[in-house]
Amino acid sequence: HTKKNGRNGYSFFQPSMNTLAQNQLQLINDLWLAIAKNELRLFYQPKYGAMDGQILGFEALIRWQHPQRGLLMPDVFLPVAEKTGLIVSLGNWVINEACRQLRVWHLEEDPRWSVAVNLSTVQFEQAGLVETITRALAEHQIPAELLTLEVTETTAMREPEESIRILTELAALGIKTSIDDFGTGYSSLLYLKRLPASELKIDRAFVSELRPQSGDATIITAIVALAQTLNLKVVAEGVETQEQQAFLTRLGCDSLQGYLLGRPVPAGQVAQLRRSVVTGQEEERPSEPVEK
Ligand code: C2E
Ligand code: MG
Ligand code: MG
Ligand code: MG
Repeated sequence: HTKKNGRNGYSFFQPSMNTLAQNQLQLINDLWLAIAKNELRLFYQPKYGAMDGQILGFEALIRWQHPQRGLLMPDVFLPVAEKTGLIVSLGNWVINEACRQLRVWHLEEDPRWSVAVNLSTVQFEQAGLVETITRALAEHQIPAELLTLEVTETTAMREPEESIRILTELAALGIKTSIDDFGTGYSSLLYLKRLPASELKIDRAFVSELRPQSGDATIITAIVALAQTLNLKVVAEGVETQEQQAFLTRLGCDSLQGYLLGRPVPAGQVAQLRRSVVTGQEEERPSEPVEK
């Protein structure tokens, strides 16, 4: 039912905007139900030791198997989840599901494997976080050292004193923490020094343009030096070429992640991924739909 466009033929809400708002509302509504309807999925992307090429563990990355729209990537629904507060229940689901999977791998695949879980700002600053995590570890009987929590540099530096308090609590429990997308935020070095994190994760933006002698090579060298000074490990994300892999290893990164080494895959394909690495077989690397 279309109404004539206002009094003087002008309407603030153009049909296209209406549709946009409707789509957002529909998305929020669907997302509420997605957990109960078991539509959320975790994909796992391997993380490798730079020197020995061993799988160290996996990063859990959320997907939404939407009944009509297919497999949705986090950038489609995480911002909405964050704005509506849905992120807390969604995040709790991620923590529990990742711990459940970690337990299975711990017993059946490799007891040294770790799993990293991403935390949004709202989750990180949520009062019950440490308790939720402690409970998940206990319930699934997982050594705390095998869980890594990733928070972005921007999240960690939002309320630095608060972050130091939370990270100190997590560290006391033995849980590892990673400062994600490092280099894209605005770190106070004074706070960074006091942050009891375990590793810095160099943002993909610095890796993708990487060539010897390029500005990004200089930045990565500086981040590695900084990390060594602060006693932190360094991970590089977004490794897509063998040149990048060789160069990042030479620059002193401890571990590497990226499409070259392994795309995010459902847990069921992880054993297969591992075998293909061990045997050096390249054929049929499981993949997810190409992004954007
Ligand atoms: P992130 O934690 O920095 O994760 C890395 C992103 O880069 C992932 O995108 C991953 O699939 C992608 N990636 C990995 N290797 C490569 C590569 O070689 N090349 C390129 N071009 N991309 C690569 P994804 O899965 O779409 O996740 C995007 C972001 O969404 C994540 O960034 C993280 O901030 C957030 N996220 C994902 N899962 C969760 C979750 O369970 N909870 C929360 N709070 N945030 C999540
Ligand atoms: Mg991450
Ligand atoms: Mg990242
Ligand atoms: Mg990111």
